[in-house]
Amino acid sequence: MGLRRVLLLLLSCVLQPHVHCQVTPGEDQKDHPAGPGHHHWGYTDVLDWDKEFPECGGRAQSPINVITLDAAFDPHLRPIQLSGYNLTSAETLKLENNKHTVVLKLPDTMKIVGGLPQIYQAAQLHFHWGSAGAPGSEHTVNGRRFPGEIHVVHYNSEYRSMDRAVTQQGGLAVLAAFIEEGAEDNEAYEHLLTHLEEVTDGGQSAEIPGFDIRGLLPQQMDRFFRYNGSLTTPPCLQTVNWTIFNQTVLLSAKQLAILEDTIHHDHDHILQMNFRDPQPLHGRVVLSSFRAPVGGRKAAGPAPPPSVSTPESDDPSSHSETGSHGQDDPQLGTGDMLAIIFGILFAVTAVAFFVYVRKNRRRTQRSSDSKSNVIYKAATAEENMA
Ligand SMILES: [Zn+2]
Repeated sequence: MGLRRVLLLLLSCVLQPHVHCQVTPGEDQKDHPAGPGHHHWGYTDVLDWDKEFPECGGRAQSPINVITLDAAFDPHLRPIQLSGYNLTSAETLKLENNKHTVVLKLPDTMKIVGGLPQIYQAAQLHFHWGSAGAPGSEHTVNGRRFPGEIHVVHYNSEYRSMDRAVTQQGGLAVLAAFIEEGAEDNEAYEHLLTHLEEVTDGGQSAEIPGFDIRGLLPQQMDRFFRYNGSLTTPPCLQTVNWTIFNQTVLLSAKQLAILEDTIHHDHDHILQMNFRDPQPLHGRVVLSSFRAPVGGRKAAGPAPPPSVSTPESDDPSSHSETGSHGQDDPQLGTGDMLAIIFGILFAVTAVAFFVYVRKNRRRTQRSSDSKSNVIYKAATAEENMA
C-alpha cells in the first residue's frame, strides 16, 4: 500500500497541470467594468492586481484548487471550535455593500477557540458568488467550482486589531464553506438575505439584528482542508491560515438567486462573478483533517462539468459533502490503472536484478576462490531479495 500511495502521489503531480486546465475561468467579467476612479481594483483586471499590489504576484496566494488526492492527512488537526457565535437580536450588526461583496461586520466576542494554534477573534464575514447557471466560489475542489462561498474572517488575538494582524505571519484565520443549491430554504441565511435589499447600491450599509452566525457554516467542523495562503482580494497579503470545510452549505434556488442578483456596484451594474481564479500552489501542501478523501480518484480524470452541481446526499440536514463524489464508482480509476502498470514495471525490474545478481555471483565464484573473505558477498544480496 505504501508503494501504491507513493506512485499515486507521483502520478497526481504529473496529472496536476491537466486538472488545472479544467478549472472554469470567470465569465462575462467584461459586463462589470470598474468605475473610473471609484476603486483601485476590480474583477475585470485581476491580472493587473500585482502592478499596484505586488504581493498579489506572490508565491502563497489564494484561492487554490484543492486536489483531494494530493491532500496530506494530518491526524494532529483538531476540530474547529467556536465561541460566542450565537448572537441575539438585541445586538445589531452592520451589513455593508463595499462594491466587491456584501460584508457583515462581526463583534470580537465571537472567537475560534479550538482547532488552530491560537485564539482568533472574528472581524467580518462576506460572500463570493456567480450568476444564474454560473458557479462563483473562489476555491475549487478537483477543478470543480461551487455556486458560492462564505468567508468568515478572524484575526489572531495576540494582535490588538485586524489592521495590525493582517500584516503578520499567521495573523488571520478564514473559515470557508462552499454554498450549493438544496431543496429547502436555509433559515440561518434568511436572517441575512432578507436585508440584502437594504444594501443594493455600492457603498450602502444597514444595521441588522444579530442571529446565530454558527448557522451560516456547515454542521460538521471536524472535516476540513487546511493550507497557508492570502487574502483573495488586493492587497493579497499572505498571512491567512485557511480552513475549507468538507461539508457544504445548502441554500434554496430562490435564496441563491437573491445572493446572485441583488447586490450592485457602481452605475447600476449588478455585482456578479466576484471571485478570483485559483492560484499556483508553488510547492505548498494542503492538509486534510480526515483520511483519504474518497473523491480523490476523480482528480486524475477530467473534472465534472460545473452544471452537475448537486451531489447525491443521504444527509437529511441542509449540508452535503464536497469529497463524496465517485464513492461508489466500481470501475478502476486512471490512478489505479497507472499504479498497476508501475507495479508490473517494478516486478520486471526486480526479476532482472535478481538474474543479474545470480550471474554475477557465479562469475565471482569461478574467478576468485582464493578471495572467500570478502565482506560483500553476492549470496547476502540474494538472501535480501527474498
Ligand atoms: Zn473572501
